Amino acid sequence: MNNETIRCRRCEKDAEPLGKAPFRNELGGRILGEICAQCWKEWLQHQTLLINHYGLDPRDAAAKNFLYEQIEQMLFEGDGGKEIDTSQQGSIEWGAGGDKAPAGDSD
Ligand SMILES: [Zn+2]
Repeated sequence: MNNETIRCRRCEKDAEPLGKAPFRNELGGRILGEICAQCWKEWLQHQTLLINHYGLDPRDAAAKNFLYEQIEQMLFEGDGGKEIDTSQQGSIEWGAGGDKAPAGDSD
């Protein structure tokens, strides 16, 4: 049992950390150090909605980057993440960096 707590950046409570970084990158390290287990759980639920809604393949690099961006927004900037209108089929705004959607996605 690990009694250490972190000050969670999202909920601003002293809370139990994840114990293990969710990604092997800089973002994963920040989540481990700054986001509590409960907030991460909430993100995972939100992530499932996003994946289902946008039909994301989490192994796809573009989808991963999209999810990383959403993590930044939801957990570090606290804006609640992208709103999902489940009555409509979603589409990712690929243009964050000025890039267009991959070719072959006919309209
Ligand atoms: Zn938290």
